[in-house]
Amino acid sequence: MEYLYGPVPSRRLGLSLGIDLIPYKICSFNCIYCECGETTNLTSTRKEFKPVDKIIAELDEYLQDDPELDYITFSGSGEPTLYLHIGKIIDFLKENYPKYDTALLTNSSLLSHKEIREELKNLDLIVPSLDSVIEENYQKINRPHQDIKLTDIIDGLIKLREEFSGKIFLEVFIVPGINDNEEEYHKFKEVIEKIKPDSVQLNTLDRPGTEDWVEPALEKDLNKAVNIIGKKAEIIGKYSPTKKKKGMSHAVKKRIVETIRVRPCTVKDLSEILDLHVNEVNKYLREIDKEYNLKMKEQTRGRFYFLSKEE
Ligand code: SF4
Repeated sequence: MEYLYGPVPSRRLGLSLGIDLIPYKICSFNCIYCECGETTNLTSTRKEFKPVDKIIAELDEYLQDDPELDYITFSGSGEPTLYLHIGKIIDFLKENYPKYDTALLTNSSLLSHKEIREELKNLDLIVPSLDSVIEENYQKINRPHQDIKLTDIIDGLIKLREEFSGKIFLEVFIVPGINDNEEEYHKFKEVIEKIKPDSVQLNTLDRPGTEDWVEPALEKDLNKAVNIIGKKAEIIGKYSPTKKKKGMSHAVKKRIVETIRVRPCTVKDLSEILDLHVNEVNKYLREIDKEYNLKMKEQTRGRFYFLSKEE
């Protein structure tokens, strides 16, 4: 598959077929916690990065076999709304495969554009991110393209709620030392009361981010955020499949373990060796880390993962 990946078990979406519309690593943000690595093309310009007809043809072929899925999700290693024809693909799914729920994971950077909100109207779920409502912290965490203003993002989210009839789960990524404080949480509460999402999902690091000094938030600080933000806020739990778990292949996991035992690899290396999307590689590494003592070292080409031979 060229444009689709998975299905992968997702903590929030169950078994999710991913659609990646953006080449690695084009994004409107360069977040310090990004699991996919440094943004190499920081842009706010929308394009048809990949041929839309081919993406639709691949989806059509895949879905004709009637696979069991919880969601078809627009996500990947960059910002999906940068893709010029995302609306065409959403409409294709709605018209031809209405039994599947569709979701979008977005950094919210382009939601201030009315035409983009219009393109998203047929989705079932939008998971927009908003990591800070304080300018200085927004710049520190998201390192956005200069055209993307925090006030526009918040305004876009408020308008999205007014216009969109599906569910909105607002995601907030908590970074210790930056946005894990009471001032931020109280300001969040005010903004969230205007955005009116269905839920607020507090997330924190569980795989190494782009910057290695980023640490997971402490549970007590996440709980404090929940107490201040209120009953809509929840700490994202672990994955629990609503359908049979078939996203993880034992053979793929074994191949990754064998590969990184022989030589250290970056996520990108593993993605190329195994012909898997970087997001899928990250999910496997997360699983492998639970069983093995996964090691890392930083080099100029990025972060390398390895296992020592005796493990
Ligand atoms: S976390 Fe998302 S928004 Fe941030 S740099 Fe990575 S892909 Fe872009």
